[in-house]
Amino acid sequence: MITGLVRILIVCLLASLSRDCIAAEGKRQRSILVLEEADFRSPFYSEIFAGIRAAAKQSGTADTVIYGESLDLSRFPGPGYEESVVGHLRTKYAQRPIDVIVSIGVTSAKFLQKRKQEIWPAAPVVYGFVPDLPETRALFLPDTTAVFARVTPAHLLNAARAIVPDLTRVVLVGDAWKNPLVYGHWKQDFAAMMPGLEVMDLSDAVLRDVRKQVASLPDRSAILTSAMYSDGEGTYYSPASALALVAETANRPIVITSDTFLGRSGVGGFLLMPEIIGREAGEVAMRILDGEAPSNIVPFGGDNVKPIFDWRQLKRWNVNEANLPPGSEVRFREPTFWGQYHWHVTIVASIVLLQAMMIAILLRERHLRFVAEVEARQRMSELAHLNRRATVGEMSASLAHELNQPLAAIMINAESAQQILRNPAPDLGEIEDILAHIRRDDQRAAEIISRLRAFLKRDPTVRHELDLNAMVGEVFRFLSVQALTHDVELVTEPSPADIRVKGDKVQLQQAILNLAMNGIDAVAHLPNKRRRVVGRTGLAEGNLALVSVADAGDGILAEKVTEIFKPFFTTKAQGMGIGLSIAHTIVEAHGGRIWAENAPSGGAVFHVALPLAVP
Ligand code: ADP
Repeated sequence: MITGLVRILIVCLLASLSRDCIAAEGKRQRSILVLEEADFRSPFYSEIFAGIRAAAKQSGTADTVIYGESLDLSRFPGPGYEESVVGHLRTKYAQRPIDVIVSIGVTSAKFLQKRKQEIWPAAPVVYGFVPDLPETRALFLPDTTAVFARVTPAHLLNAARAIVPDLTRVVLVGDAWKNPLVYGHWKQDFAAMMPGLEVMDLSDAVLRDVRKQVASLPDRSAILTSAMYSDGEGTYYSPASALALVAETANRPIVITSDTFLGRSGVGGFLLMPEIIGREAGEVAMRILDGEAPSNIVPFGGDNVKPIFDWRQLKRWNVNEANLPPGSEVRFREPTFWGQYHWHVTIVASIVLLQAMMIAILLRERHLRFVAEVEARQRMSELAHLNRRATVGEMSASLAHELNQPLAAIMINAESAQQILRNPAPDLGEIEDILAHIRRDDQRAAEIISRLRAFLKRDPTVRHELDLNAMVGEVFRFLSVQALTHDVELVTEPSPADIRVKGDKVQLQQAILNLAMNGIDAVAHLPNKRRRVVGRTGLAEGNLALVSVADAGDGILAEKVTEIFKPFFTTKAQGMGIGLSIAHTIVEAHGGRIWAENAPSGGAVFHVALPLAVP
């Protein structure tokens, strides 16, 4: 006994208010019986049932069980079947009390009116899916309420006029038209709405004939279909497949009445929404389960009919959407290219945009780099010019000395000529010789000046084929006076080969000159025998021309052999530290390489490798 109680308690704790707990407590579950007039498995009625279930779930009660029964009386007419149904239900529910019945459809309402007393005498009823007509209200039992749902004849006619604006004729298809409890007095309604409207009533015709008749309808007509279950010949259809058969041959648009018929060649219309019908009835049932008296809930019209149209059918029948009833929904609209592919388009466009941006950034970077390179080259050329002027300034004394020689010789020769001319019989042959000497000396002086000019000029880079031996020789000659003043011997050891390189003569000579001047600096203070700078030319593997400038100085600190080429690196008191960096820039601009090393015998050697003009 005690263990039994404990078990019940644990189950209650675990399951809280769940069904198990209720069962364990011995408390009965609340129950709803859904009584449908037709077959649960048809799309329309199964959606109604789903709506009722959703309403029960939404109310948050897990203690409600829903039973469902399909009466299916239209397909199985006759008192014998009805009697057996009553017997079956009585037996089936003998031990299962029903708290509320949700009756779906007019046929169910009629059945309950006749037979409820015998099966569920005490259960209250919520009527759903019934039209608000005096005839249907007359079916309601005491202690009941209702949520009405109805597509009226006015709904059908309005939809038909929206689809066929110059409508003169309607064709009625489907057996529900014959049921006064569904469409009521449609004849009077049509006449009142559209006097003179022609009505072709095929509700009695067998499906075969209907298909034939609807194939050749005149223009300005529309087909109004209600559900078709039977064509009176003992053949039963599902309403949706019957509609599809009619639509197959119809030459005019078809107005339909249920959401579940949409997409089966009907144009649309005011449509019953079965899921909403179920939900509305279910909500009222839950209120009754929660204690409200059915008589206190006044029967009301649900919001369960909506104007909905099939976009493809509207196109087929050239229907202007503006003519549709206000608030209409259009389904099956074919998405536009943008609607269908907007993700693809957006992604592709983003990639293209991103790419364009990256290309723009790269182009801008290239442009900036180009500008920077031009600026750097310009600055290098300015710096090189400064470097040359400084060199010339440094060499001015020796230049003056060099110029002095031809000028002094010219002076002496001119004086000698004057003296000869003072002679009564001057030796003209000697005069001619003297003049020739004067001319030669003048040429020498002019050469010195033009060399200086060439060295100082700031030309944009021009590339010519150059004789490397001659070029090195010229540089060393140019520096000869400078060397002489420092008492340094300048030696050239040209290669016997004819070495040609391509480049800017002034720039390349400046690079070699800077190396040679550094060589002079490096040995100027040393004892006599070491005061020597040697310039060599030669060839190397890989189609390279070589120039080396070697001295017998103290050499370069091993760890500085690369640093010395950096701008403003100097170890000299008066040094600027730009000579080697300019030489480095010039050589690299010519596609060559410059490097320094210490000779094993002492002193520094600078090497320049340049590509041969003709490999
Ligand atoms: P600067 O001659 O004005 O110092 P450079 O760029 O021509 O500028 O030379 C940079 C430095 O490289 C020098 O200060 C010196 O330390 C080193 N250097 C250049 N040439 C030689 C050389 N022949 N022997 C030893 N050191 C040298």
